[in-house]
Amino acid sequence: MQMYEVVKQVGISEPMWKESIEKHDVIHEEFGNICVYRVAKKVGLLEKGSIVTQDGIIFDFPRIARIMHLENGIYHAYTQPVYVEEKVDGYNVRIARIQGQIVAFSRGAYICPFSTDRIVDFLDVKRIFDENPGLIVCGEFAGPDNPYNIEHPPYVKEDIRFFAFDLMVMNKPHNLPIEERYKLFDIYDMPTVRRFGCFSPSDISGLKEVVKELEEKGCEGMLIKPINPLEKTLKYVTLGSCFRDIRVTAPLMAEMMSEFFTHRIIRAALSIHEHTHSLKPEVFAQLGESLLKPIYESITKVAREEVIEERFLLRFREEKNIQRMIDHLYKCKVKFEVLSKSREGDYWHVRFAKKCYASYEILQKHLGGSFHVD
Ligand code: ATP
Repeated sequence: MQMYEVVKQVGISEPMWKESIEKHDVIHEEFGNICVYRVAKKVGLLEKGSIVTQDGIIFDFPRIARIMHLENGIYHAYTQPVYVEEKVDGYNVRIARIQGQIVAFSRGAYICPFSTDRIVDFLDVKRIFDENPGLIVCGEFAGPDNPYNIEHPPYVKEDIRFFAFDLMVMNKPHNLPIEERYKLFDIYDMPTVRRFGCFSPSDISGLKEVVKELEEKGCEGMLIKPINPLEKTLKYVTLGSCFRDIRVTAPLMAEMMSEFFTHRIIRAALSIHEHTHSLKPEVFAQLGESLLKPIYESITKVAREEVIEERFLLRFREEKNIQRMIDHLYKCKVKFEVLSKSREGDYWHVRFAKKCYASYEILQKHLGGSFHVD
């Protein structure tokens, strides 16, 4: 089908489509024999993150609002029962079959060659997409050996795993109702995020128990998903995840927006206020270790003229996807070096070092005694 025919369904005319391509609001992407259009800036009804393909439109994965106070947040948001799931700390992908090939799209609508390479390890893609043409499986890739995230769930000890949490359908801007989703996850034996079941919104003690368990296990948090589609999906994170986010990001504090840290400190304070009711002295040390120690260590490295690095290992099934991933990282403006490539068992193991030059340069200037007005 012509792309004009596809976008006509959402009220985008041929001239409007052509203009958005000329303005680079929509960008043509190729992957092997597949051609798609990545929406980089809203066009008509298509939000950033949507993908236009010959097989139809894959709508963006919507942003999820956060509550900072569990009890009051639930009270304000819901009148009907909700399902609760673990919030798995990884990166978001939408899996679809395009022109006969299975592809994994990132939140920003890029084709991720690494996730595309590995998805067959986790899903029976042939059966799922043969029996459900037009289905889009949304989920999280998570684990220590991934290209994007430093943090990962504590129970994924190596490599990555895939956790499905949502289902969409081509050309439809919304997801399938939650109970239908769970049914399909089970029929196709898809690995999913942990599901804690259905709660009445008045069962605050039950929900607090879930938070306590997630906290103890070192998990990121939870998603609260309504049965009533008119109510909102919300996210709520654990205290530990606020400190872990701060700790892994603080080495690059010099180049980050300060809101990244202040938002997490406010979340942490609210969580302590709601669940612990008092500030224990060990929390002061924990915050100092998360916030101050990593940037102190970065300064020490820069003083030795060492560039700050983040190393990661990726396992690929197909050798051709290694170069595709390298090209993808260049396209995303990541500065990196490939350290090694070797065949180990069924996979190609490729080691990367991401180079954090921006922090290095800022800290070097400070250390060198340059002036600046702040
Ligand atoms: P946002 O743009 O929604 O603020 P973000 O990139 O800042 O997203 P988070 O704040 O971490 O991400 O939370 C939303 C993300 O959580 C989702 O995009 C999804 O990838 C991830 N996630 C993990 N577990 C689940 C789950 N069970 N259900 C839905 N999303 C989940």
